[in-house]
Amino acid sequence: MENLQEQTSFLQNTFFARYKNKYFVEINDGLLIVPKIAYEHPEEVKAREQSLFKLKQRLLEASGRSDAGAVCMICSEGSTEEVFLFPTSREANHFVCLDCLKKEAEGETKMILYPDDREDPFAVTEYRRICFEHREEWKRFLKELVAQPPHIPDEFSLTTTIPNKKTLLTEQTTVSLENIAISATLFFVLLSKTKVRVGENLSLFGEEDGEDCIEEHDTTRNTPVLLRKNKTNQFNPSLFLENISNIPSKSIACTYGIHLVDISTRLLSKLKTGECGRCNYLSLEMEKEEHLEEILPMEDRSIFVGEIILLFLMNYAVSILSKLAFHEDNEMAYMTLEADREDHIRPILDMENRSIFVEKIKERIIIRNYAVTILPKLRFHEDNETYKLFLFADQENHIRPILAMEDRSIFIGKIRKTILGNYAVSILSKLGFHEDNEMASLSLFARQEDHIRPILAMENRSIVIGKVEGIIRLEKYAVTILPKLRFHEDNETHVLFLLVDQEDHIRPILDVENRSIFVGKVKSICPEKYAHNILSKLRFHEDNETKGLFLHFDVEKEEYIRAIFDVEDRSIFIGEAENISLYKYAVNILPKLRFHERNRMVNLELFADEEDHIKPILNTGNRSIDIGGIKKLKLRGYAMNVLLKLKIGEDNEMEEFYIWSYMANILSMGDGSIEVGRIKRKGFDVPEEIKPKLKYILVEEEGHEVETS
Ligand SMILES: [Zn+2]
Repeated sequence: MENLQEQTSFLQNTFFARYKNKYFVEINDGLLIVPKIAYEHPEEVKAREQSLFKLKQRLLEASGRSDAGAVCMICSEGSTEEVFLFPTSREANHFVCLDCLKKEAEGETKMILYPDDREDPFAVTEYRRICFEHREEWKRFLKELVAQPPHIPDEFSLTTTIPNKKTLLTEQTTVSLENIAISATLFFVLLSKTKVRVGENLSLFGEEDGEDCIEEHDTTRNTPVLLRKNKTNQFNPSLFLENISNIPSKSIACTYGIHLVDISTRLLSKLKTGECGRCNYLSLEMEKEEHLEEILPMEDRSIFVGEIILLFLMNYAVSILSKLAFHEDNEMAYMTLEADREDHIRPILDMENRSIFVEKIKERIIIRNYAVTILPKLRFHEDNETYKLFLFADQENHIRPILAMEDRSIFIGKIRKTILGNYAVSILSKLGFHEDNEMASLSLFARQEDHIRPILAMENRSIVIGKVEGIIRLEKYAVTILPKLRFHEDNETHVLFLLVDQEDHIRPILDVENRSIFVGKVKSICPEKYAHNILSKLRFHEDNETKGLFLHFDVEKEEYIRAIFDVEDRSIFIGEAENISLYKYAVNILPKLRFHERNRMVNLELFADEEDHIKPILNTGNRSIDIGGIKKLKLRGYAMNVLLKLKIGEDNEMEEFYIWSYMANILSMGDGSIEVGRIKRKGFDVPEEIKPKLKYILVEEEGHEVETS
């Protein structure tokens, strides 16, 4: 910085902490301590007030008057310890408080009334003069300060007495911290800019705006600390880590703040926290493997972290899970473990299974990649109930040790939502859920066949799933393992998603027998693309009903249902279904569906916008698809031609009958050759040229026949 003005404004704008009127500025070379750079500092204000006070005392003595009992002529406040009154004129007949005087001098509020005979507004003039003199003096001081080379000590003991001169602490300065309490921010700057020596009785506190960053050691200040690493300026990581290494273990007292994010695991072992510490969110990172060296020899559960709601351990930090000690009443809500390399978790691999206590986790467990390997080492409380379990593994190595374990040997407790991704799908059979577990959803996705290969070798129906009441969602190769899953006989699932965009995803299933995969009761079946091919393989509970929901299939390509063409008509038993909509090639599924005898269809909607969509179904006999009683029939596009194939109950009365068509084979049929029964007049919507081909009776709301054809 070239000129003094720039340098002074830099100092004034960049201090990050202060102690009394000493200011701490972080610069590239180190930590600069400068006195008096802020003009509005309370001590500066006090000095101005003292000058005004002295002037007032002289004036009162000279005029022989007193301010006893006087009040401010503007706000009517009397004088107190904090408020003193200043005479408005040399005669001291009236007074004004300093607040009101300041407003008048700065904002010209014109509230102070001066005697008529006086041109001179005494109070404001004096106030401005004193401020001006102080500011000039302060500027001279700053000028000297900036020009002055800093004192650079080799040793510096940080105490409540800070030298009143410009001081620069650098990488060469050993800063002793002993019998003192300092703010965590100041501590982190010292760690990254100087050589720190921690002696006895050091404690840290969190910052609060404008407060001193240094306190006597026996202070009761315990504002929680957030331990945020300083990321400004040029941060020297090796100096920072060396400093942390040199700190004696558990030597620094503090209260943990609520969110400890990305903090150094190494530092954590140096801290001691009281029982009252409530860190809700602890996220640990570990920079290098050698940092484990000093933590691994520590006893298990020796780093007390109090009550934690969210725990996030990444890479090497995963290895210290067993070292953390929680408050005895702790109930974690979220735990995330992520490790990308085997060496991140190697220390844990030698531990006994079920030796790391994690007890109960209420909301969510997320375990990724190599951290999945240590799953058997975790010990959950037998009453553990977790809302969501997410396991994801991208390499076979992540799960290999688990594959050798017995089925259901990794006890997790009750889990409402289970999500397994890629290789983690392979360990589904190894997970031991609580025997009364009822899942709300089960979601499995596998992008490669390798991800599920171990399961393909298993017997059909050998992986016990029990009940899933909400959603079963199988994606890509995970669909392949459907025959291996064993659902409870009374399973009732809301939606079954089969998400398949390659034929490969379902190929092994095409060889299993029709109706051999029991899925229980399913309200809504949502196959995607090729998954329609396996509809005939599913077996639903005989009392299955999709009431209220639409059974909706939309098939864009013939190959998505090619396997269905080969199954016999009426062989896919759905149970009861009130609302059915079949789009495009899915129209051809209609003859294959079979419903419960007591089924009453309400809505049937068929839609085909290409002639090809309906070609296969046109080969079935006329009036061969018995849809029984129906309330609303909608045929759109080429699907209108399917009308010939439908057999509608004789006494049926439809509320809506809707045809919207491009062209129709029907036109070549004899007049009155297609029976559609009784239809409510207002729900009858059929092109004029089609009407002659139909045999129908239109009725009014009350049932009177009004028109027959
Ligand atoms: Zn006042």
